[in-house]
Amino acid sequence: MKTYLGVDVGSVSTDIALIDEDGNVLDSVYLRTQGQPIKAVQDGIRQIGDRLDGNVKVCGVGTTGSGRQLAGLIVGADIVKNEITAHAVASSRILPDVHTILEIGGQDSKIIILRNGIVTDFAMNTVCAAGTGSFLDQQAYRLGIPIEKFGDMALKANTSVRIAGRCTVFAESDMIHKQQLGYSTEEIINGLCEALVRNYLNNIGKGKDIAEPILFQGGVAANKGIKAAFERALGMDVVVPEYYGIMGAIGAALLAEEAVKRQDVTRFKGFEISDMSFVNNGFDCNGCANMCEVVEFVQNGCVLARWGDKCGKWTNSIYNKESSLNRA
Ligand code: SF4
Repeated sequence: MKTYLGVDVGSVSTDIALIDEDGNVLDSVYLRTQGQPIKAVQDGIRQIGDRLDGNVKVCGVGTTGSGRQLAGLIVGADIVKNEITAHAVASSRILPDVHTILEIGGQDSKIIILRNGIVTDFAMNTVCAAGTGSFLDQQAYRLGIPIEKFGDMALKANTSVRIAGRCTVFAESDMIHKQQLGYSTEEIINGLCEALVRNYLNNIGKGKDIAEPILFQGGVAANKGIKAAFERALGMDVVVPEYYGIMGAIGAALLAEEAVKRQDVTRFKGFEISDMSFVNNGFDCNGCANMCEVVEFVQNGCVLARWGDKCGKWTNSIYNKESSLNRA
């Protein structure tokens, strides 16, 4: 059976999806990146490889996410694409006429507007925690309630409480104030869900032409309270896809399938990469006053890539002296 791998490396999680030729998800892995993207990719690939049936052949691999270039070097990617494209491709496969993608992860969020399958507008937030999953994580910790229970508890609220959630610090003091006024925990949790949605729509959603059909994805899409809060705020239906947490990886796998059809051969290095030695080295170049901090990526003693040089001296030397550790 022909299959395709998609690898999505973010700052919080590393997701890998294995799909068949019809786009069905055969297997997937979710790992915490924990500041070690190389290890996360190798561990994830190993897990998928260990579970593979003998008659499955990986015919292509694609990478996306903030660590997509690095992941691409590790796995031998056939295509390396940004998260916006990967999410748009995966969403369009599931819901061909999707017009809006709301995506909220642990530490970032994005909105993508599509018309006729083409991305017409998008925005990303990687700076402010108030519109991401970490906002809810912090408040769950403060309330001593597992985050997994937040969604069901929010749906039990009888009234709506407005929590000042523009900043996580204000939210905390306002929550204490509302508790003192006698509001129930369910009502406060519902208020927190509404605060996150307000933050999201007032920041990255501001001025965007949000229209149905709407897909809601990313780790936070597991929270039914947030889905309901979006539906109330927008007055529209919001759909959470089955694989809401790995849509970037699915998109990368679909893109790999397309790329391999064009080039007819895969660059995938095989599941052996999980046992190879990959290292990131850094050194300062003394070639001129810029004193560039150059980073090089080394596989089993061979330099695969360098970056950080302003003049291209080191980047170009890779292509001039392939697989050389020589820094002369
Ligand atoms: S990499 Fe180029 S620009 Fe940077 S310090 Fe060396 S010679 Fe100068």
